[in-house]
Amino acid sequence: MPSPIPHGPYAGFGLSYWLDFERPRFGPLEGDISADVAIVGAGISGVKLAHYLGKLGVRSVVLEGGVVGDGASGRNQGSMNHGTSIGYTECINQVGRENARALWNLGLENQRLAVAMINELGVKCSYEALGFVFMARSDEPGFEEEDRGYRSDAVLLNADGFHAEYLSADDLRADGQHPLFVGGLRIPSDSQFHSGRYVAGMAQSVARAGHARIFDETRVLALDPDGPNAVRVTTSRGVVRAARAFLLTNALVPQFVPGLARGILGERGQVLVTEPLSQRPCRGSYGAAMAWWREIPEPDGRWRLLFGGGRKRDEPDSLFRAFDEKGAANPEMESEGFSASDAHQRRLDAQFHLLFPQLKSARVTHRWGGLQGFTADSLPVIGEFDPKRRIHGMAAFCGRGNAYTDVGAQYLAGKVAGVAGSVEKQFEPVIRECLTPGRGSANW
Ligand SMILES: Cc1cc2nc3c(=O)[nH]c(=O)nc-3n(C[C@H](O)[C@H](O)[C@H](O)COP(=O)(O)OP(=O)(O)OC[C@H]3O[C@@H](n4cnc5c(N)ncnc54)[C@H](O)[C@@H]3O)c2cc1C
Repeated sequence: MPSPIPHGPYAGFGLSYWLDFERPRFGPLEGDISADVAIVGAGISGVKLAHYLGKLGVRSVVLEGGVVGDGASGRNQGSMNHGTSIGYTECINQVGRENARALWNLGLENQRLAVAMINELGVKCSYEALGFVFMARSDEPGFEEEDRGYRSDAVLLNADGFHAEYLSADDLRADGQHPLFVGGLRIPSDSQFHSGRYVAGMAQSVARAGHARIFDETRVLALDPDGPNAVRVTTSRGVVRAARAFLLTNALVPQFVPGLARGILGERGQVLVTEPLSQRPCRGSYGAAMAWWREIPEPDGRWRLLFGGGRKRDEPDSLFRAFDEKGAANPEMESEGFSASDAHQRRLDAQFHLLFPQLKSARVTHRWGGLQGFTADSLPVIGEFDPKRRIHGMAAFCGRGNAYTDVGAQYLAGKVAGVAGSVEKQFEPVIRECLTPGRGSANW
């Protein structure tokens, strides 16, 4: 799936820093097989679901068109928030205070499950909770309102029992931030990890434990009913018959469930990483309009800077709909969505040089693009995608896949096995009310 930029100033780039290591290979499916559950896609969603199903005694096969981690899971910021991609105040306005509080608690439960899984499987992914800081910048329209939103978020989050801190312009200056930033919100317990080693390490352990059979280079071509109680999954390497299928292909879900196309839009994110630096560039993760970044620890004690953004939501080279107005599939969704774009990298460089002038001469070693799924209400979809074809799934995490895939996987696995886990017991009402696939508020 990684496609290098063919020409121009960024020629040869395209490989994600997170995927620049010897990834485990699982080999393709060879011939026809049966399983309890067929999982399409081996990103964090697919691998975590296989883990939870395996623990409940349900045997699954994971079918990955490329190599484990090729999708957004190996191309992101590598930060784990525990809230939605809209602020707490906005979320309260959208879904009410009780649901907003439940969605943040769901994120905390996700972090608890993620850490437990990392420890249980012994995944070496440099997990560390260094916090996330959201900031308002004075060169963007509406920054005063954004700043007021962070003040309000801090008050409401603390009142509801969460840990959050409003940061003034002086606080941000003391933290070494650019003078453009006028206020922000710090969530101290948000965390970071090495995205590639996370997804690949989990997959290796899940396969080793016998919890699932994972096949890469096995592209799913069709999902059809196979009698009343089964689904037939046709792949490039053979057919899988299963009682259920889980479609965990992120922004590409509408390729197989067109009915969800109005509720899932693909967006290309764009990222660069510098060479190792002798000075630590920041501490933890940061996010603002047009830019987000974090530091990456190197084994020799130095640090790299990972820097992403360089776009607003409606940039024409960033947004991908699954189908055009005539219903024809968008051929660029996948090929373009996962590749680095020349124009987009130029905008990213402009932001990088503006916000980190001290790193102007630092060499950039990696540049890449990655496709993520977004709903109009900025909340993921988790549940039944197409009951008639026995297709379920989760998708459109709106930049928060690391915050909601563990809880989603445990919830979905429990439904298959008929065993309610911690997520179903505590969060069933908010999942049903706010995250159900096909809900009207998700539609663009
Ligand atoms: C630039 C960027 C930055 C991000 N930053 C963050 C962040 O800091 N924190 C956060 O929480 N989230 C972040 N995200 C979002 C996060 O990465 C995703 O929500 C998450 O990785 C989704 O995981 P997934 O397993 O659902 O999908 P993916 O990782 O995209 O996996 C889907 C898999 O399905 C496979 N596939 C697709 N079609 C087929 C087919 N027909 N047959 C077989 N296999 C198929 C793909 O090859 C892929 O491996 C970011 C995303 C991007 C792109």
